[in-house]
Amino acid sequence: MKSSLLVVLGFFATAVVAQSPEKVISVKEVTRIETALAADDMMGRRTGTPGIEKAADFIAAEFKKIGLKTWPGLTGYCQEFSILRARALSTTASWNDQSLAANAVMVITPQAELTVSNTSGYNTIKIAAGDNLFEKAQEIAASGKAALVLVDKAHEKNFPRLSFLRRSITKDQSNLVFVLSNDAANSFAIQYKQEVTEQKMANVVGVLPGKSKANEYVVFSGHYDHLGIGKPDAKMDSIFNGANDDAAGTTAMIMLAKYYKKAKNNERTLVFAAFTAEEVGGFGSQYFSKQMDPNQVMAMFNIEMIGTDSKWGKNSAYITGFEQTNMGAILQKNLEGTGFNFYPDPYPDQQLFYRSDNATLARLGVPAHTISTSKMDSEPNYHKQSDEVSTLDMENMTQIIRSIALSARGIVAGKETPTRVNTKNLR
Ligand SMILES: [Zn+2]
Repeated sequence: MKSSLLVVLGFFATAVVAQSPEKVISVKEVTRIETALAADDMMGRRTGTPGIEKAADFIAAEFKKIGLKTWPGLTGYCQEFSILRARALSTTASWNDQSLAANAVMVITPQAELTVSNTSGYNTIKIAAGDNLFEKAQEIAASGKAALVLVDKAHEKNFPRLSFLRRSITKDQSNLVFVLSNDAANSFAIQYKQEVTEQKMANVVGVLPGKSKANEYVVFSGHYDHLGIGKPDAKMDSIFNGANDDAAGTTAMIMLAKYYKKAKNNERTLVFAAFTAEEVGGFGSQYFSKQMDPNQVMAMFNIEMIGTDSKWGKNSAYITGFEQTNMGAILQKNLEGTGFNFYPDPYPDQQLFYRSDNATLARLGVPAHTISTSKMDSEPNYHKQSDEVSTLDMENMTQIIRSIALSARGIVAGKETPTRVNTKNLR
């Protein structure tokens, strides 16, 4: 182990003149940040709790100390937004002059009340018997256009489950009226009432402007939310500390901000993001991706669970969606001879590429990957109260963060540009 570590350090000394990562990215500093984020007083960092607000304050204070700029248009590092949750109160509907059962209608709207008829001018879209109901519904919801959606009766059994769309409505969500019917909509009238509750949340975002390619962004991210407080366990306290998931990735993101600020060699603009609400639906990264032009994002390094040793042991990590772009190959090439290896994700069945915050930008074509070491088939503390700092390998985690810095140097310097994700290949 030692010899390969020395190779890495030696390489850094010659390759990076401005600032050596092993000095800035130290075990001591990584441990300090990791320990603070995973502390019991953060109460498991669940979205919508005082614990996650405390964590956001901590991250913002670190960004300030480092000297990052705020996101354009914001006065602080917190990128606030809210998600609405709706509970239906009443639905009355007539359909071609017949009354329609309330359970054959599903209205998705940010408003407390909605009345829609054939004179409202909604586009009509059909979901056919052979379509994937939920995928198609999600696609329509994301399109941003008001619509009347005729759902083939073959989907009758799953139709009520479209209510999942009511759990995460953004304020600018356009109105959608799903109707379970095989008849064309000649004349109809639908009145709908619901109770809306608003949940405020915030990403924490800092920026290091690029020197010569300021309009080209490279994103480094990790999610800082976790699962909160559970039932008391006989052996453990009740707090889900989420030390690995994902205080570790958040720590890496902060350390990289610290490093690049000192290195002063970023030709591209670097964006550092701590995402909220990953565990409850990825709302933080979804909101974040809407604040920028995805064509300006040259690469995204999302970092998730790097605190334990990977299945190959120390000095290694894997990259999800490796085959989707050549970004992984670029990172591998930049680590040749260092003794550190990046591998393609060894758990393809688990669809990890689609399960973390990289997915939102990847779906917009951005080479956006997650770097992880988590043994997804056997990680003993994954999503358990026992995910505590004492279970992490801080030396190895520090080495991973240094290696990410080294592997990213061409991309940060604007000399290497990964290929884009071909969104047609995504599932
Ligand atoms: Zn996670």
